[in-house]
Amino acid sequence: MKNKPLSPLFNLDVFQREAKIKNGFFQKDILSVDQFGKDDLDYIFARAEEMAEMVNRWGACDLLKSYTLACVFYEPSTRTSSSFIAAMERLGGKVIPITEGIQYSSVSKGESLIDSMLTLEQYCDLIVLRHPEIGSSAQAAKYAHVPIINAGDGAGEHPTQALLDLFTIQKELGRIDGLKVAMVGDLRYGRTVHSLTKLLAQYDVSLRFVSPDTLRLPLDLMNELIDRGIKVRETSKVADVIENADVLYVTRIQKERFSDLVQYDEIKDYFEITTELMTQAKQKMIVMHPLPRVGEIQYNVDKDPRAAYFRQVQNGMFIRMALLAAVLGQA
Ligand code: ASP
Repeated sequence: MKNKPLSPLFNLDVFQREAKIKNGFFQKDILSVDQFGKDDLDYIFARAEEMAEMVNRWGACDLLKSYTLACVFYEPSTRTSSSFIAAMERLGGKVIPITEGIQYSSVSKGESLIDSMLTLEQYCDLIVLRHPEIGSSAQAAKYAHVPIINAGDGAGEHPTQALLDLFTIQKELGRIDGLKVAMVGDLRYGRTVHSLTKLLAQYDVSLRFVSPDTLRLPLDLMNELIDRGIKVRETSKVADVIENADVLYVTRIQKERFSDLVQYDEIKDYFEITTELMTQAKQKMIVMHPLPRVGEIQYNVDKDPRAAYFRQVQNGMFIRMALLAAVLGQA
């Protein structure tokens, strides 16, 4: 049956779905940054540079023309969902977006995550999943027959954000080794911090953690860093780290993870990066934020060339283009 020629109705080129490149990510789930060694990071970053060049020259191409992505978001998202959609579309692929309207899907009728995955995989070639529970992507990957990309599992991980964050640091400062990176904000619940910290731990970096006492980095992650010989320091004031930081990675307090909103209200305005504070920072450094910001960085700071957070957003699309193409064996 397999070799029976297709009806001439179909353009054979379009249906040519053989993997061109069987790299380390071909048909793999992307669940955690633990899957990425330095060579993998270099590989994805090089593909992302090529994607940037392609977008600058042509805007879009046909690389993933015969593929469909399901984008399934059980938690709100602006950048991650829209950048995955933009990434797939710029590569010529199709998207089933289940993002804003998850309340209109059968999830609202009580359908389980696994049943939703087993259904959606009948229509698509890979699934990007965001879900409020830690480990949800790994759970989905256990059952699904198409690759799952973790787009945030509660307070767990956000691997594609960490890839774009590291890519941004490399692009902006030209290196990762030797840098002093200060992570500011909700280090307890901020999944982007967890993933980026783990990636940075593969390099020769010094890490500074700045948070209110109740939102410190989880102990197991801190112990992992210490075991790996990473230089770490904890403090509760940005003023303690800003002078020496090469990267100031600012995050919002994760309101949705608090069971007691009174506690959230008490610390929600804990940090604010102002133009005045920026006068203490080095000339060659960058301020990053995974966004959304809810008051942690004054709008005036946006004009400062060291404010890299919107360039960071654009890098997200290039990284996700690279990753989608790699998982589908086309890059
Ligand atoms: N957008 C990032 C995330 O989904 C950061 C945040 O929401 O604070 O984790």
